[in-house]
Amino acid sequence: MSTQRGNVSRTRPQRHQNALVFRNDKYDTSAQRKKVNAKLHEGLCQRCKEVLEWRVKFNKYKQLTQPKKCVKCLQKTVKDSYHIICKPCACELAVCAKCGKREEIVIPIQTNLGKTENESSKNDQWRNERRGEFEDGSELNLSGLEEDDDEDLDLLMKQDKTERTELQ
Ligand SMILES: [Zn+2]
Ligand SMILES: [Zn+2]
Repeated sequence: MSTQRGNVSRTRPQRHQNALVFRNDKYDTSAQRKKVNAKLHEGLCQRCKEVLEWRVKFNKYKQLTQPKKCVKCLQKTVKDSYHIICKPCACELAVCAKCGKREEIVIPIQTNLGKTENESSKNDQWRNERRGEFEDGSELNLSGLEEDDDEDLDLLMKQDKTERTELQ
């Protein structure tokens, strides 16, 4: 009895439950990554916001290296990736800055940067990071082990049976 392999009466709950889904900053902790993750997708309709959040989440979000031309005022004033309309224009025309449609804007463009919203999102970010730190250590090793253990056990029991039948 050197290992606990056959011990199935496990009292602790399963530790890895995928509560924290995909984290793109798990291994990439650069300031650049944090900046992109913390980005507020303002002036967008629900659909475009989701698209950009998806891009950020799966590392598909490429930041602009230089401002793009706005399709409304034709100035190089678009500073956000994938947007086609600059913020002043989108705000003035009440359209989505990405698809240009008159949709409901999820996060309205803040012309005078409201402090409350910024601060609360910073706190959320901080909380998320702390949570990540706590879970990172145990998560890696345990991710696949729970099921592997049971499979091995099944296999062992089958082998055990066949051996016994062979002996009889
Ligand atoms: Zn514009
Ligand atoms: Zn849109």
